Amino acid sequence: MKALTVRQPWAGAIAHQSKRTENRSWKLPAKHEGARILIHAGAQPDKDAQVYGPHLDVYGAVVAVATITECHFSVAGLCCGPWGFERAYHWTLADVVALAEPVPAKGALNFWTPQPDVLAAVEAQLADTTTAI
Ligand SMILES: [Zn+2]
Repeated sequence: MKALTVRQPWAGAIAHQSKRTENRSWKLPAKHEGARILIHAGAQPDKDAQVYGPHLDVYGAVVAVATITECHFSVAGLCCGPWGFERAYHWTLADVVALAEPVPAKGALNFWTPQPDVLAAVEAQLADTTTAI
């Protein structure tokens, strides 16, 4: 599984709110369409973001797992409200699972490969979730 670093509060909004659209300036490479990825909260916040709620103050950690279902360019006023920005690529997310215990990790630009211990810690939590159900 690859990881994608998203600044807070956006990463937390994916994990704990209804954010299912990731805004990017670049088109999703086709090979990542349908991929299950780790959502990593970056070390630096987006100070202009106006999103509030619990769990949005976790930095430098994997906070969720999600599937990227597809990518399209914004259609002004018509799609992905309220999370989708205008004039941006919208990467749509599904099957989001928030991690009860964020897993510390150093982020990177673009898609990146998590260290084996990070991946193992995430997968252990996903296994616990499955058991609980
Ligand atoms: Zn959209």
